[in-house]
Amino acid sequence: MRKFNVAVVGATGAVGEEIFRILEEKKFPVANLIPLASKNSVGKEVKLLGKTYKVKELTEDIFEKEEVDIAFFSAGGSISAKFCPIAAESGAVVIDNSSHFRMDEDVPLVVPEVNPEDISAWKVRGIIANPNCSTIQMVLSLKPLDDLYGIKRVDVSTYQATSGAGKKGMEELVKQMQDFFAFRLDESKKEAFMHQIALNVIPHIDTPQPNGFTREEMKMVNESQKILHKNFELAATCVRVPVLRSHSESITVTFNDGVDIDLDRVKGALNNFEDVEVMDNLEEGIYPMPIIATDTDITYVGRIRKDIYESNILHFFNVADQLRVGAATNAVRIALKWIELESE
Ligand code: NAP
Repeated sequence: MRKFNVAVVGATGAVGEEIFRILEEKKFPVANLIPLASKNSVGKEVKLLGKTYKVKELTEDIFEKEEVDIAFFSAGGSISAKFCPIAAESGAVVIDNSSHFRMDEDVPLVVPEVNPEDISAWKVRGIIANPNCSTIQMVLSLKPLDDLYGIKRVDVSTYQATSGAGKKGMEELVKQMQDFFAFRLDESKKEAFMHQIALNVIPHIDTPQPNGFTREEMKMVNESQKILHKNFELAATCVRVPVLRSHSESITVTFNDGVDIDLDRVKGALNNFEDVEVMDNLEEGIYPMPIIATDTDITYVGRIRKDIYESNILHFFNVADQLRVGAATNAVRIALKWIELESE
């Protein structure tokens, strides 16, 4: 089997570190690994499949010099904007975790279980975009439901973990909790988030938009429509909560007029969908929670119930590890699908 030279840009970040774990778990066919970060991280070590690699500085000529075949990017939008085209130009297929290219018409935006066929458009720009973390776990549960009944509208509220803002987000929550127990929470720094995140919830993620929504909320609207190839209505409220890892979402779906929801069929459709699992027994306290989803590659769905007024409205709750399902695992799954397509 062919092996590939794999670059990971953002190798020392929350998503980058998770990519190494997933490459290891999936025994990814790596010929050479090139971990890349800023010059502050040069020389740090990364272990993968029994070998140790040293982090190198991200430079313009590194992709050509190292003959990179596959480049995973997770170092933020401005790094992607500058370096993804350079990596693609040097012959690599780029899988980008930032939001920079997601809505470009000639860049496929892919969740492999939902729209794997879109990967074939990678050749146009050499770039495949990974959707926003909240979008990925939501479309994983929307796709089987859309196939079943046809979605007309979605209303979603998110409960997003602090690691969604990278390592600094997780560290800030831990530090503020330590400061709380030391009676000095008032002096604790607020850098990753605008407000105190410990013992609080913040209904504000990313920048405000002229329509009153935030950029994170509009990403969920625009990206979901692009992935599902459908212009359904969607309204999102994105909220940061004091959880370290795994995003949760409370979702209300309105199906086409005239649909009379059958809950057994809904649960069957969700359970039969790749990488989605129903976990739903309210009497026994069984439902998805961040501590259940963390470190897994499954999107868990529970609290599935019909609306008490309308027969075509469904409510449910879903949870997934956003560093894995919402970023690293999705990126590695895209790469594996790409390899499959290219070797046909
Ligand atoms: P993070 O923990 O803050 O890590 C950032 C990474 O980028 C580090 O490896 C850092 O290297 C590197 N970097 C920063 N400036 C650089 C530069 N000038 N040159 C080279 N490398 C540089 O952030 P993260 O959470 O992993 O997120 C990274 C990207 O993934 C973002 O675009 C984010 O939107 C996206 N994403 C994140 C999540 C999530 O849940 N966290 C989910 C989906 C997508 P140094 O250590 O050397 O500074």
